[in-house]
This record gives sequence, C-alpha cells and structure tokens, in this order.
Amino acid sequence: MNVLVINSGSSSLKYQLYDMTDESVQAKGKVERIGMESSILSHEVTDRPEVREVSEILDHTTAVKKVLDMLTHKRFGVLRSIEEIQAVGHRVVHGGESFGESVLITPDVKQEIRRLFDLAPLHNPAHMIGIQAVEANLPDVPQAAVFDTAFHQTMPPSSYMYAIPMVLYRKHKIRKYGFHGTSVQYVSRNAAEFLKRPLEELKLIVCHIGNGASCTAVLYGKSFDTSMGMTPLEGLMMGTRSGDLDPAVVPYTINKEELTLNEVNSMLNKHSGLLAISGISSDMREVIQAMEEGNEQARLAFEMYAYRIRKYIGSYAAAMDGLDAVVFTAGVGENSDALRRKVCEGLTFLGVDLDEEKNRIRSGEPRSITKDGSRTAVLVVPTNEELLIARDTYRLIRQGSSA
Ligand code: ADP
Repeated sequence: MNVLVINSGSSSLKYQLYDMTDESVQAKGKVERIGMESSILSHEVTDRPEVREVSEILDHTTAVKKVLDMLTHKRFGVLRSIEEIQAVGHRVVHGGESFGESVLITPDVKQEIRRLFDLAPLHNPAHMIGIQAVEANLPDVPQAAVFDTAFHQTMPPSSYMYAIPMVLYRKHKIRKYGFHGTSVQYVSRNAAEFLKRPLEELKLIVCHIGNGASCTAVLYGKSFDTSMGMTPLEGLMMGTRSGDLDPAVVPYTINKEELTLNEVNSMLNKHSGLLAISGISSDMREVIQAMEEGNEQARLAFEMYAYRIRKYIGSYAAAMDGLDAVVFTAGVGENSDALRRKVCEGLTFLGVDLDEEKNRIRSGEPRSITKDGSRTAVLVVPTNEELLIARDTYRLIRQGSSA
C-alpha cells in the first residue's frame, strides 16, 4: 500500500510517498511560495537528483495536482497512476482536547479541526486547506489526521493546568497541550527498543531540540509532562522563541515600548531565543561557530540554551521520581555534540557519565553516548515524524477496511 504524507503550511506543502510493504520512501519534496509569484516545486526520488520546477501555483489544490503530476511523471515519477495512492496522512498541529490519537478524516473531524483554529491560528487553517486540496484531487482516497498534541493528552491535570482562574479553562480551554508529540512517541519507542526494555517500564525524558524545542517526561510510555504549553512558545529557549518568562514582561513591555499585542507576540515568537541573545542567528551551527571564534553574546546564547534544557531534565526527573534515560533528537539534538556535552555536564548527580568519544560519533542510528555502567543512559535517537504519520495512517486504513 502507498501512503502519501502531507504537511501543509500556509504557503508551502511538504510531501513524502511511502511504500508501506517495506516502509520505504519512494519520493519526497515540497512546494514553496504557494500563492506568490514563481512558486517552486522540488521533487526527489530516492537515489536520483532533485528536480526543481518554477511555475505559478496560486492555491493548494493546484499544488497537490502538481505533486500528483510529478509522482506519476514519465521520467521523474514513481507511480503509474494516482490510483496507486491508497491513503493520505496529514500532519495536524493542534488536536485540542478532542483528539488523543490519530483519526480517519470525516466531516465531523474536519469540523472539530476548524473549531480548534483559535488555538493554532497559524497552523490548523493551513492543514485544513491541505486536507481540502487532497479531497479535491483524490475524492475517493481515505485521509487520516495525525496530531502533534495527541500524545500529550495523557498528561494529568496537575501537569496541564495553569494556575489562573478556572473559568478560563472552562470557557476557552486555556491549558497546556504540548507539541512534538508525534516525534516524542516515535523516539520513545525506538529508545526502548534500543535499550531492549519494555517502554511501559521506563522513565524517559525526550529532548526534541530543533528550531522549535521541547522536553517531555515520558513515564511508562505515556506523556506525563512537557515543556511547550497552550502554544509552542512555552518552555525551552528556541531558535527564535523566548520560551519561559515572567508573564508580567508582556504588559510591562507593551507599556514601555508602546507596542501592540501583535508586536509583542511576534517579538516573543520570531525575534527572541538564540537569535535575540546571540545577535547573530537562530541557527545553532552559526551560534556555535561564533562562540568558538570568541563572540561573547554567542557564548551567552549557547549557555542559556543548554542551561534551560538541563533545568527541565532535572525537574522532570523529580516529577517522575527517577530517570532511566535522556533522549536527544531533532536537528540540534541529533547533530550537536557540543550542546549535548554542555547539557550533560550538570547531570552527574543523576548518574550521567558521558562518553566523549561516543558523543562525537555521527550516525543516523539510535545510539548511546554514555559510558557502559552509567546509571542513567543518554541516547541520541533520530526522529522521523513522517514515518509515524504513514504508519498511523496505514493502521487506521487497515482497521477501517476490516471493520
Ligand atoms: P525543525 O524544528 O524546523 O523541524 P530541525 O529539527 O530540522 O528543525 O532542526 C533544525 C536546526 O538544527 C537548525 O536550525 C540548526 O540550528 C540545527 N542543526 C542542524 N545541524 C546542526 C549541527 N551540526 N550542529 C548544531 N545544530 C545543528
């Protein structure tokens, strides 16, 4: 069975085509600048050079059509006809309290995703456009929605409630939801497999450190607490997001700088984090390079970034009353030995004994970076959200057809 995985943004659409008989990626690519002048479609078939096509793509329906044309293209395609696509899986950022797991998309599900637009105004509307664009092109193909928040629906109220008037939760569902759930779930399973222990017996902290960054306490296979909140702004310092700060900073800044709410929102989401403190870049590679060249602001940015991860690890070890393994994943977590070293420096009290040599090794496979005998393991486990979306979609379609 072929499953097409779609991640639809407001002006972009990423895709991966999986053959679920062996979970291999047949082709992948993205359409960028949808609705703007000269949209770009980049398409890559495994082991062949990338194809780039510039044309005018005014909306997502046309973008999906272009992707399908490419997938069935005589020279660049991998399918004989679009009938060979049996299911489509969509990444959906916010599932609110309604979705604790992935679901097949029905009219009711679409209505619920629409109802959640307020909670994820930048993401959910764009996902809905993607779902409708697929429907327009492949009306008979079943679709599934896989939510970034779903895995965290197991958090207890003591983790997810904010200590503000209850009416705000009751009326507006203001609470912690958490994100990166698809990645955390995938990585936790692989970590347990690597450790050769049942996930249901493990206390893990998964640090998904990419452009967006979060820590999650995974207690016996379930999310117990996570650092991102009602939106992805809470928690760790990120590429351009502030992470935790005293909420009083917001009204104070508005007053002092005569900013609008939108401007403060944009400041905290797009102009803070590594970018703001280093004054150089939101990209950890560039910050580390500047730090190594002696730039003090870059050093401060790097140290703050690592320190906050360490603080979350400490607090989640306390929250779970123990810890078997810390797991690093995503762009920075998988690739930056310097960041991992800095975080682990302060974790000796938890029994972390980092192996410098293992920490430096690069590989696309799950691996341990602590010495044999380290009381708490530290692992690097590559994430693959698209594969989990494809797997969930495949499972739902099979369950649906056997029901
Ligand atoms: P996203 O959150 O957008 O999915 P990724 O998980 O792909 O992001 O992470 C992207 C980030 O990974 C980049 O901004 C870059 O800072 C970081 N990164 C990639 N390679 C390295 C590296 N070798 N060292 C440090 N950081 C890296």
